[in-house]
Amino acid sequence: MNNTPKDILLKFWGFDSFRGSQEEIINAVINNQDVLGLLPTGGGKSLCFQVPALMKEGICIVISPLIALIENQVDNLQKRGIKALGLKGGLKFSDVDKLLDNCIYGNYKFLYLSPERLQQELVQERIKGMNVSLFVIDEAHCISQWGHDFRPAYLTCSILRDLHPKVPMIALTATATKKVSEDIITSLNLQQPLIKKDSFYRKNIGFGVIMTEDKNNYLKQYCRKIKNSAIVYVRSRRKSEELSKYLLKNGLKATFYHGGIDQKAKSERLNLWLQDKVKIMVATNAFGMGIDKPDVELVVHYQIPDSVENYFQEAGRVGRNGAYSKAILLTNTTDKLLVKKQFLEVLPDVSYIKKIYLKLNNYFQIGYGEFTETKFQLNFNEFCTVYKLNSFLTYNALLILDRNSVISLSENFSKKQ
Ligand code: ADP
Ligand code: MG
Repeated sequence: MNNTPKDILLKFWGFDSFRGSQEEIINAVINNQDVLGLLPTGGGKSLCFQVPALMKEGICIVISPLIALIENQVDNLQKRGIKALGLKGGLKFSDVDKLLDNCIYGNYKFLYLSPERLQQELVQERIKGMNVSLFVIDEAHCISQWGHDFRPAYLTCSILRDLHPKVPMIALTATATKKVSEDIITSLNLQQPLIKKDSFYRKNIGFGVIMTEDKNNYLKQYCRKIKNSAIVYVRSRRKSEELSKYLLKNGLKATFYHGGIDQKAKSERLNLWLQDKVKIMVATNAFGMGIDKPDVELVVHYQIPDSVENYFQEAGRVGRNGAYSKAILLTNTTDKLLVKKQFLEVLPDVSYIKKIYLKLNNYFQIGYGEFTETKFQLNFNEFCTVYKLNSFLTYNALLILDRNSVISLSENFSKKQ
């Protein structure tokens, strides 16, 4: 019990220093303070609760939205010799009962379960009987209708507070918008929480936008260059199947993933990809939440993403290992016309651009700057990037088109001018 957080980090993970706010969050948790941690994808949210849970007596209960995610985390802990258990779907009542018994008497340190499981009375009763060290709500944006993965069952997470009012709770997410944070705090009834937000700027991601009438060709070229894994995001199930076939036909190892395939096929495909047997995953946004594959080196958006939030979540899955990686958006005249039609009236308005910038700033904490009306030459300059933000000096080219916004930062911004 005399171990410091750093000792634990080194002993179980072999890392010698914390990142960003990890240490501050860990210390707050050790002191029984509630925490809301807003850390980018790949920012290291898991350690924020795993380290302090190992320093506390009792079991840490983690609510997590996906079976794949639960398995992934439980495996990771077990590999390090830590006693962890996940309640999977499809378990018989008696099995659940046994597993929960194990938690009470077996000296387990972590119990992972879905929010749906938590709704079962048996589960609540058993949790009540446990010596709980800490409650964790992972992917906490699922609580909010403003988040991109709203999950009604998440609304019942606050039950945990009734079961053990004194146990601290930590909520973690990579969705950093104000509305989502407010919803999380209210819904979980977090008490004077420490709210920590790390920079969402990922310096090892090169953002690019390719304007092309032949997206397939570009996709193929990019995919040929990779050594490790790639994800290609599309917006329809059919498109994911179509493109994965196209890549296969061109000698690239690809598979597809979307909400319409059954659970078994989903985990098979995920595993093929995780084990590098298939390099390229062509998927809808059903793929990826929380999956920790460190060596994804390319994310392609084959179609315009749903929203800025989704874009960052999805693009953020590259380069978790810190290696230089690419996030490429492919776009064509049809996309452009679509956007043009929707945005032509609002675009020339500075306040609109400013609004978008504020939205962006939720992800990249870069401070505010003055807008000057500079004609800026970009591939897309005909319909955006007429305003230059003076403090925007550190970014690679990035253009995001979605239903609500058109953002364009030029490559030139990456050098001090
Ligand atoms: P998140 O849940 O925020 O997306 P994870 O907790 O899955 O991120 O961590 C992402 C990766 O970063 C993991 O491979 C993890 O081992 C690694 N990581 C986290 N914290 C550190 C650290 N302090 N030093 C080195 N690697 C770390
Ligand atoms: Mg995570």
